[in-house]
Amino acid sequence: MNVELLTSPASLSEMEENAALAALTCHDNADKEHVPAEVLMRIIKLRHESVLEHITLTYRVVNITRALLQEVSRHRHISLSVESTRHTLRKKLNSKFELDFLREGASGEWLKAIENIKRIADTYPEVPNDELKYYLPEFWPTNLILTSNIRELRHILNLRTSPAALKEFRSLARAMFKAVPDEFKYLLKDCIHEEE
Ligand SMILES: Cc1cc2nc3c(=O)[nH]c(=O)nc-3n(C[C@H](O)[C@H](O)[C@H](O)COP(=O)(O)OP(=O)(O)OC[C@H]3O[C@@H](n4cnc5c(N)ncnc54)[C@H](O)[C@@H]3O)c2cc1C
Repeated sequence: MNVELLTSPASLSEMEENAALAALTCHDNADKEHVPAEVLMRIIKLRHESVLEHITLTYRVVNITRALLQEVSRHRHISLSVESTRHTLRKKLNSKFELDFLREGASGEWLKAIENIKRIADTYPEVPNDELKYYLPEFWPTNLILTSNIRELRHILNLRTSPAALKEFRSLARAMFKAVPDEFKYLLKDCIHEEE
């Protein structure tokens, strides 16, 4: 899995300032001198979280399973653009699989599943990717772009860094937090569960 934050620190600063202004506008203090981070820390303490919707982050996420995609896509306030199996399935069957999250020892069994789909693809070339996809196992890797505002991201990180969450989602959630520049981590820090 590889996670990259595409939003630049300059855009983050601009959105941070906009969100601080939004908070101050609520109390007719928009003209007051302020430090955006201090305003937003207060907002987080007060749980006035709608203000945090003015800040959005966009990530590039590479090489996660479709099992994880299914869980990610349950979150209703994020935007996703996901690699299409229709356009990539046969091409990907012949690429190298890096299944780093699978249990060592059993990995040969996972590869057998891939070999089986390859066999179906070769035996029935008339079957389009759109139908071949029904044979895919949940560990089929995918890539996506994910955009979330900070309010929803706080919710996701809170749920998905918890020990109750799927291990792969825990890794994704921690990588998403880690990718945020240090000076903006205060927006999310209190939502991160301690590592077990
Ligand atoms: C440990 C764990 C186990 C899980 N197990 C299962 C399972 O067995 N089966 C299963 O189906 N799912 C399961 N889920 C997924 C879970 O049910 C949610 O679908 C998923 O976590 C998305 O969270 P959410 O609905 O809180 O938030 P999001 O969709 O991210 O929305 C954020 C928040 O917006 C508000 N919101 C969004 N939509 C509405 C709405 N329509 N009405 C009112 N408020 C809304 C809510 O406050 C919500 O918390 C599990 C999740 C976890 C973390």
